[in-house]
Amino acid sequence: MSAATAAKRGYEAGVLVVGGGNAGCVAALAAARRGADVLLVERYGFLGGTATASMVGPWMTFHAGQRRVVGGIAQEIVDRLQRLGGSPGHLPDASSYVPTITPFDPEILKALLFEMLSEAGVRLVLHAWFLEAAMEEACVRGVRLATVGGLRDAQARIVIDATADAHVAAAAGVTMQQGDERGRVQACTMIFRLSHVDREALAAYVRAHPDQMRTHLDARALRGADLTAVAGLYEIWDQARAAGEVSVPRELVSLFATPYDDEMTVNMTRVTGVDPLDPDDLTRAEMEGRRQVMELTEFFRRRVPGFAQARLAATAVQLGVRETRRIVGEYVLTAEDLLTARRFPDAVARSGYPIDIHSPTGAGTETRRLPPGETYEIPYRCLVPRGVDGLLVAGRCISTTHDALASTRLTPTVMTLGQAAGTAAALCAREGIQPRAVEGQRLRALLREDGVDLAQEVAG
Ligand SMILES: Cc1cc2nc3c(=O)[nH]c(=O)nc-3n(C[C@H](O)[C@H](O)[C@H](O)COP(=O)(O)OP(=O)(O)OC[C@H]3O[C@@H](n4cnc5c(N)ncnc54)[C@H](O)[C@@H]3O)c2cc1C
Repeated sequence: MSAATAAKRGYEAGVLVVGGGNAGCVAALAAARRGADVLLVERYGFLGGTATASMVGPWMTFHAGQRRVVGGIAQEIVDRLQRLGGSPGHLPDASSYVPTITPFDPEILKALLFEMLSEAGVRLVLHAWFLEAAMEEACVRGVRLATVGGLRDAQARIVIDATADAHVAAAAGVTMQQGDERGRVQACTMIFRLSHVDREALAAYVRAHPDQMRTHLDARALRGADLTAVAGLYEIWDQARAAGEVSVPRELVSLFATPYDDEMTVNMTRVTGVDPLDPDDLTRAEMEGRRQVMELTEFFRRRVPGFAQARLAATAVQLGVRETRRIVGEYVLTAEDLLTARRFPDAVARSGYPIDIHSPTGAGTETRRLPPGETYEIPYRCLVPRGVDGLLVAGRCISTTHDALASTRLTPTVMTLGQAAGTAAALCAREGIQPRAVEGQRLRALLREDGVDLAQEVAG
């Protein structure tokens, strides 16, 4: 029987990953490298999710203080991007928001992810939308997909929901939470890149006006290449607002370096009051995001030093969505866990990134920080849905509160969570056990073997 005929009947796999964003790709890689037969399905024709489709970068942050606290496949991806000229690696954050930021080229990431998944033997089905979960009582046995060839079923021992919106978990009946206490989610942002930028001219402005930056830099020797992140330019922004040239509800100008000297990523549009899981809301938000891109491009050309010749080089395929649903898992991670740098015996990821909430309703960004140099941990139980078997969750939609999500959603963290989910799923598929039966210490040992950076053991 040909592969095409077999596929018409449906797919079978040991581990099925739904969603090929960074969490899903890393989950698939980890499971395949641990010996599982892995199928990854993705609704777009390329991988990378928010990092590529929504062009969200740079990644932040692999560090807490001076220490690198993210390793494993996440660091391997950065190393390989660097070798391909698609990333300069970890750079100091000029805005001092975090210790380091990691710019990358989303086009090179798209190619690299295909290469890495092929090397690991992961099978892919692209242009395949998850529609329904196939259940046997409270256990997920597979999924139904809408593909270019019509409906297809896929069966698996373990399914990993890496859709960021928790589509599989919701369809499987897992209890969900969304947004803050009133269901409001963080603002959405249409990311865009401007090319033909003269960063030296921008650096000259910053040298002359260090008070215009959110963090007061020692700007005397600042060069264009040092401007890895720009947050501020308050006078320029306020003048444009007063003149009625911009209507975007942001309090400052916010720009990031890409791997290229003459290009910057703009993370400034803001669409509020959106439920990204409501099709009419999402449509309105996509349109408003693009309107703001045009408005801001004009603003940069007219007002910001170094941008007079700037061109709109690229806009995201899809509006950047910071938050939708979260599963209720065996443990719900809280803001207090983060801010007190709590340790867990089954920790599978750690981060020093602050809680960073882009206002759901208007201008303003709320930041709450951990003690300097500290990290918090995420227990494996946050990946295990309460009450449903056959399923793990990786990435943005793990089990946290709204506030904790505002830190755990960052890309280095979701990649590490993907590695944990993939490693656990391979174990389950091989031994015929359920995700909730995976022992935390055993999983941690496997993750350490594979380079994941975890703190020393703590007593249960
Ligand atoms: C505007 C914005 C700014 C951000 N800023 C930063 C930053 O500066 N640094 C940083 O590190 N992080 C940042 N983040 C956070 C980070 O980018 C994301 O939280 C993270 O990339 C999410 O990864 P994920 O793999 O969980 O989800 P995603 O990358 O969203 O991947 C989900 C995948 O599932 C697929 N999918 C969804 N539904 C279906 C379906 N029904 N069927 C099949 N496939 C499906 C999607 O196409 C996608 O490929 C930002 C996010 C946003 C939106």
